[in-house]
Amino acid sequence: MPELPEVEALSAFLGERLTGRVIAEVQPVAISALKTYEPPVTALVGRVVGGVGRRGKFLDVEVGGLHLVVHLARAGWLRWRDVLPVGAVKPGGRNPLALRVRLEGEGGFDLTEAGTKKGLAVYVVGDPGEVPGVARLGPDPLEVGFEEFAALVRGDRRRLKGVLRDQSVLAGVGNAYSDEVLHAALMSPYKLASSLTEEEAARLYEALGGTLREAVERSRGLAAGELKAEKKLGLRVHGRTGQPCPVCGDTVREVSFADSSLQYCPTCQTGGKLLADRRLSRLLK
Ligand SMILES: [Zn+2]
Repeated sequence: MPELPEVEALSAFLGERLTGRVIAEVQPVAISALKTYEPPVTALVGRVVGGVGRRGKFLDVEVGGLHLVVHLARAGWLRWRDVLPVGAVKPGGRNPLALRVRLEGEGGFDLTEAGTKKGLAVYVVGDPGEVPGVARLGPDPLEVGFEEFAALVRGDRRRLKGVLRDQSVLAGVGNAYSDEVLHAALMSPYKLASSLTEEEAARLYEALGGTLREAVERSRGLAAGELKAEKKLGLRVHGRTGQPCPVCGDTVREVSFADSSLQYCPTCQTGGKLLADRRLSRLLK
């Protein structure tokens, strides 16, 4: 799933190509992806793109007073096309195309979604705050000050892993970067947020900003098609179960849940202790 750094890069990439251009046509293909009906997506036609921004993991394309807000979710992606094929698109079947936006002149982009878990969400609204997921967002981790961050996190009694991923606490961090931030902060994903000392909160704050800024820096200027591979390359523990930790050489471990998993380095983060993996222990019984 694209997280803050990828959506940030995607928004910059798209901003360069879309700003000032006129929308010529919007073709909704997968109706399930469309979450709003009024105004209809066709209301975008004939309007000029004012700019592209990011709100958490949401892309926000401002189009002549309206906003096309997109959440790519787990398997959604945006594909920029210098030349778009002409004609109608057949929905259904294995076609991953969910929505096509054509610009006047040439070019445009496709929103696609692979797989069966349909999570891609597209909204056309007068104000991005009308999108429930956007209205709920906490502060942006690239902008939040330390005092506010410390108050948010230390006031939370959940485990750090869950707190960092909660979009209403911080906007834009997901499963991958929460693993990376905790590894950089040398903290267990199971540590209780409310147990953080002032010094630990400062370390986590540094790790959060540092990890995300580094990832944004790496992604900057990359084409939409290159972002996924770049994200994978930059990760130190996430998705690297069984591989050596790049910091200490210990083996990266995993804890599995029903529909996700987390990775961590025992030496760097848990004093060498292995975290309980319920799924694994159940399998071993
Ligand atoms: Zn390590």
